[in-house]
Amino acid sequence: MTVEVFEMKLSKLGRNLKSSLIRDLLKYATVPGAISFGGGAPDPETFPRKELAEIAKEIIEEDYRFVLQYIPTEGDIELKREILKLLNDVYGINDLDEDNVLVTNGSQQALDILGRIFLDENSYVVVERPSYLGALNAFYTSFPHFISVPLESDGIDVNYLERVLRELDEKGEVGKLKFIYVVPNFHNPAGVTMSLEKRKALVDLAEKYDVFIVEDDPYGALAFDEKPPMPVFKIGGLDRVILLNTFSKVLAPGLRLGVIIAEKDIIRKAVMAKQSADLCGSGLNQRLVARFLQRYNLAEYLKPTVETYRKKRDAMIEALEKHLAPKGARWNRPGGGLFMWVELPEGYDTMEMLDIAKEKLVFYIPGAAFLVDSINCHSMRLSFCLPPVEKIYEGVERLARVMETYKEEKGL
Ligand SMILES: *Cc1c(COP(=O)(O)O)cnc(C)c1O
Repeated sequence: MTVEVFEMKLSKLGRNLKSSLIRDLLKYATVPGAISFGGGAPDPETFPRKELAEIAKEIIEEDYRFVLQYIPTEGDIELKREILKLLNDVYGINDLDEDNVLVTNGSQQALDILGRIFLDENSYVVVERPSYLGALNAFYTSFPHFISVPLESDGIDVNYLERVLRELDEKGEVGKLKFIYVVPNFHNPAGVTMSLEKRKALVDLAEKYDVFIVEDDPYGALAFDEKPPMPVFKIGGLDRVILLNTFSKVLAPGLRLGVIIAEKDIIRKAVMAKQSADLCGSGLNQRLVARFLQRYNLAEYLKPTVETYRKKRDAMIEALEKHLAPKGARWNRPGGGLFMWVELPEGYDTMEMLDIAKEKLVFYIPGAAFLVDSINCHSMRLSFCLPPVEKIYEGVERLARVMETYKEEKGL
């Protein structure tokens, strides 16, 4: 088949799928001697491997009729109960039952499902600028109109959002705005946390213009200093907010376990969408985590993990102060999660600078990767989760040399 015919055979989506910039970049990160601040993969030393191995043996031997069988699309009832218990213990959210819960194959599947059940080509969806790339990719498959609203140090710019909503309303189009997608806690990629005031303002706006909010919260439990403000879900309730959670960043991404918490009608639609994608999730992984949560207190279990990441964040900030501050770089101090957003002075195109970073064996993700309209951009995402502390110092020092070389080449 010729290339032309092959292209013609593809669907609109098939033709438009492009390989992810991040995935391409991460290939370089495995070069020997490289220090990578690129990927968002958690530190494998934090995975509960002994605990999970022990439970896995038990349930495969004793519960094989369930764990090795097809399970209900909605998910393992034991896991759903544990999730409801966590929401109650951690956030005091106690007005839910099992029908408000759908267990997904990671939050990524939840994002894909929400895109499929809410978005059409003439729909609008609000995302933050910058935004989580996996969500942009998932929503993109429905070809909606993206509206990106700037992210500030205390969360989404609600004044800007209000203008956008008013304009859509004036055009008679606000009904086509389906949802506002936010990552309120320890944002990926920006590291910032939305203030309580903004959470309330966001809910007020969503109510005024009658749109949903999708709250994606993979990092809320990874707080280094103080706990983040209460979830948007708790403020806006089931009528307004769809909450996504995942065990990827707190237990292990290989479990592929996420969850949608939403109003029952949404869950019913989502269940049907999931059915068409994969019939059901893995009973083995779901029961495994259910038993883990029955046996161990997640918050207790996470203490050393949080401590590990806190040390790494501190190391990265110290290194940035020493090596990048003198060069005019600025950054935020994330209160948790895995990422920092670093802004270099104007003129440093971080996409272009990556060629030099590759030579000097240090990796980051250029900020442009997280924008809907990937214009050139002098920011980058640094993730501090994977390299050990010494490597963090060394990697940031390398970054400083990358900036020097770029500056010389460009005559900045
Ligand atoms: C990591 C991440 C996810 C997806 O994680 P899964 O492994 O698919 O559960 C979703 N949203 C954000 C913001 C993330 O950082």
